[in-house]
Amino acid sequence: LSSEKYNISRKSFGSVESSDVNFFKSILGDDRVLTDEGDVQPYNVDWLQHCRGQSKVVLKPKTTQEVSKILSYCNQKKLAVCPQGGNTGLVGGSVPVFDEIVLHLGLMNKVLSLDEISGVLLCESGCILENLDSHAREHNFIMPLDLGAKGSCHIGGNVSTNAGGLRLLRYGNLHGSLLGIEAVKADGTIIDCLGTLKKDNTGYHLKHLFVGSEGTLGVVTKVAIHCPIMPKAVTLGYFGVESFENVLRLLKAAKLSLGEILSAFEMADFDAITTTTKNFKISNPISDYPFYVLIETHGSHEGHDSEKLNHFLEEQMASGLILDGTIASEPAKIQSIWGLRESIPSAGLRDGYVFKYDVSLPLPHFYRLVPQLRTKLGDRASVVYGYGHVGDGNIHINLTVPEYTKEIHSELEPYIFEEVSKLKGSISAEHGIGFSKRNYVQYSKDQSALHLMRELKQLMDPNGILNPYKVLPDVK
Ligand code: FAD
Repeated sequence: LSSEKYNISRKSFGSVESSDVNFFKSILGDDRVLTDEGDVQPYNVDWLQHCRGQSKVVLKPKTTQEVSKILSYCNQKKLAVCPQGGNTGLVGGSVPVFDEIVLHLGLMNKVLSLDEISGVLLCESGCILENLDSHAREHNFIMPLDLGAKGSCHIGGNVSTNAGGLRLLRYGNLHGSLLGIEAVKADGTIIDCLGTLKKDNTGYHLKHLFVGSEGTLGVVTKVAIHCPIMPKAVTLGYFGVESFENVLRLLKAAKLSLGEILSAFEMADFDAITTTTKNFKISNPISDYPFYVLIETHGSHEGHDSEKLNHFLEEQMASGLILDGTIASEPAKIQSIWGLRESIPSAGLRDGYVFKYDVSLPLPHFYRLVPQLRTKLGDRASVVYGYGHVGDGNIHINLTVPEYTKEIHSELEPYIFEEVSKLKGSISAEHGIGFSKRNYVQYSKDQSALHLMRELKQLMDPNGILNPYKVLPDVK
């Protein structure tokens, strides 16, 4: 039972009855109301398989009006709802904790328009990120964000988690690229903030309330996103580096030499790459080094850009910051190096249970927790590795243990969050708070801010039906 496993009690919501199911069927038809245990099961389990809910109903709306009718009904009946996109979230936010109704947005997947000049893309929230990117590319644009889960995650999920990803360094976060939003409040009211203007300072920036609110303030149904122009030239460098200090020196050098074309600066340590190559049987294009750095450029002239990156490689090999490296401008080779990087998050799952942390830290302390945690766990951990978006100060720390134990869990938490807080970092850089981190949010948010969050939740969802048990800490 969730209450035993999670040490949390079900709130006094209604339970779905057959009359409710009949109502949902009257709106959606029989096909889009799932009640068979086998059909519902996949929607109850998260990507990491850390969280499992007991929902008995999955609803699949196709329109904003359907979402509105469903929420209005659920609000009146006090039925709790868990909005779900691609279910790739890593903090247990996308699956029910108890028997919340799963509101799956996957059928709201229409692209509505793409402006050929401004690059403004208007679409429904259930569009898969990779499909949007392919669509944008057909019109010489790209999506402003890219992440390993792009083949499954939805743009609505991305907005709701304020996903960062691999190119935030260049194209900024979603607060900047999101121009407009349509969302449905808990009581079914449709909020139309679906503007498409780059500049619009007419009052409160309400669309931002939904960015990163993880389905607790409303259901995102449509978005307007600014897409950057597709770069004519993409070049990728993959380098071996001796120490983390040298990774930082290289970051500085890359900003100085490649500043205007730099689109990604990622790092991974030896254990991250080795676990990935071993578990997925893929090869590492260079030999073994303590650290690896991946530098990507997006520019407008292939000759100039690869010359710049090659020059950078020569210069930094001479300085000793780069020990070895390879540069690619052919799509297949670029794809295979990115493939290696993007496989890191799932690599550890093959060896056991993975504790995952996604934290922001000031750069001088960026890697500090990894050796600290290796010492703390000793040989109880199969592997501890660090990788991530060093250009944005965001490290992912994965600790694999043969199997989950409460003892290790309580040794890691709140320890890690206390350490992050002491170092003035954030306990969640880009994955959000969801279910797993809700009782640690105070390590990164002042009580005054948490109080305002509760007030907003009360204002927008007075019955608390939207994604309960998520984001906000339990009330003791
Ligand atoms: P879900 O997992 O379905 O939901 C996430 C949260 O958003 C839940 O709280 C859910 O209730 C809410 N939600 C979803 N859709 C809506 C909606 N329409 N309206 C309201 N609420 C909604 N994240 C990063 O930031 N950067 C990365 O680089 C990154 N890499 C990843 C790599 C892998 C291999 C995996 C598995 C995950 C990665 N993630 C990353 C995490 C995850 O992909 C992102 O959080 C993503 O934005 C989630 O989108 P989703 O559609 O899967 O949302």
